[in-house]
Amino acid sequence: MVRRRGWLPVAACVGIGLNSIRLRGRVGAIDVIESVDHGPPGGAPGSDDPHAQRPPYVLLLASGVRLGPEHRRAADAYARRHGCEVLDLVPAEMSAHRILDLARMVDPSTYRSARLARGRGAFQAVLVDAEVLARTGLTTADSTDLTDLTDLTEAELVAVLETCKRHAAASTDLAVLPGLVGAEPDDGRTRLSVHRAAYAWEPARRVLPALRDAAILLGATSNPLAALAAVTMSWLQPVAVGGSRLWVTPGTLRRSMLTRRRGALLQLVGMPSRTRDLLGAPTIGPDPATCPRAPRPIRTAGRLTPTEIAEKRSQYRRELAGGLDRFLESPRTTCPWCGGNDLSVRMNGRDVSQGKPGRFRYDRCGDCGHVFQNPRLSFEGLDFYYRDFYDGLGAAMIEEVFGFSPGPYLHRASLSIPTPRRWLDVGGGHGHFCNVARTVWPTTSFDALDIGAGIEEAERRRWVDRAYRGLFPDIAADLADQYDVISMFHYLEHTRDPLAELDAAALALA
Ligand SMILES: [Zn+2]
Repeated sequence: MVRRRGWLPVAACVGIGLNSIRLRGRVGAIDVIESVDHGPPGGAPGSDDPHAQRPPYVLLLASGVRLGPEHRRAADAYARRHGCEVLDLVPAEMSAHRILDLARMVDPSTYRSARLARGRGAFQAVLVDAEVLARTGLTTADSTDLTDLTDLTEAELVAVLETCKRHAAASTDLAVLPGLVGAEPDDGRTRLSVHRAAYAWEPARRVLPALRDAAILLGATSNPLAALAAVTMSWLQPVAVGGSRLWVTPGTLRRSMLTRRRGALLQLVGMPSRTRDLLGAPTIGPDPATCPRAPRPIRTAGRLTPTEIAEKRSQYRRELAGGLDRFLESPRTTCPWCGGNDLSVRMNGRDVSQGKPGRFRYDRCGDCGHVFQNPRLSFEGLDFYYRDFYDGLGAAMIEEVFGFSPGPYLHRASLSIPTPRRWLDVGGGHGHFCNVARTVWPTTSFDALDIGAGIEEAERRRWVDRAYRGLFPDIAADLADQYDVISMFHYLEHTRDPLAELDAAALALA
């Protein structure tokens, strides 16, 4: 009789089998670039003026990745033909762990149209439209002055793809390019850094393969046959997943059982001394503060340097030294909504998300039931308490929270109304709503307004057609009669004067 533990390898077999079918389907959905040599000219050397003949694509290569000029031309032609502004090029032959990682990270059937999906691929070679690359701010060169970049780390390409996908939300794709030779060494050493960069916000995904291994090990003595079957299935999984699209590099399958686990082993070995590093903010590429002599060809955003953090700390100290009084106005004695004067204290609150000092009182109006912050924040107070929540220190976290799922945005955009020509999203934040709402209203022009820098970034990403930075009541006169729809999501309750905001909306509506 099989002991209870003996079922663990059986469960592992079932899990590996089902997962292999799922992942194989994904790999099968990746397009293959035909090695045509008759595409439109581009990248062809020999022109006198490098700007006149400049190909519209820039190639970013991981260290050690090689491809011939004919394959480059084929990739350029494919990208142009399919309207891809960003194209991750997948080698047809890869090591076992790279095939598995690719299939686990991307669902090619929905990837291109999923406007909030993370930029993903094989992280070996990425073709980027020069204009898109210039907009990302990843390089300091402008779009007419960009050249191919080589010798990037795979972890840097993770950051490149994530950033590029955000700037080309519905025109980023991936395709297999036969002839592209992937990075060496292929011994799994770079996998840990790739995982740390790619799964920075999904740490649980890094543990799943280890759980599978643990299940097999725990049941091995009770059910050796099933354990052997599970090990074999796990070993051959990359071959099954790759199918006829992706091949495990010849001669590497035998040692892949070890190379696939090297990243996890390296992490275990490094754990005691590097716990803080591993648990801290994701490190993408060398930290400029610790590696000043290693300038990188790209800037990977989303991480404040220790110098910037020190500057912020001293700025906050200076502001707090001046006291908190100026962050609040004088309390009011009447309800801002109905004018009633039957006010009672509903609650006293504090800043529970950032822990900034200060006490905030909320009053309830006995006449209309409106609950409001009293006294309200001054403009200085708004700036102080919101800083580093949506931007600065909080930007990366907010990106994750807002970008988690398109569901809420689709729900908000799905209205039974005639097709709007122009839509203004007030309090548009980082433009996530407008980005997703385009899938519901593809012909509508989406503009957005907010006080933070995030709204300008949304314009750079083309998530909004036009960004207005400022207070709605101040700007409304310039927007008079322009919009068919004005939306305010989680906005009105954050404003100082909701009635003035509604007046502004009435003014801006056509
Ligand atoms: Zn009231």
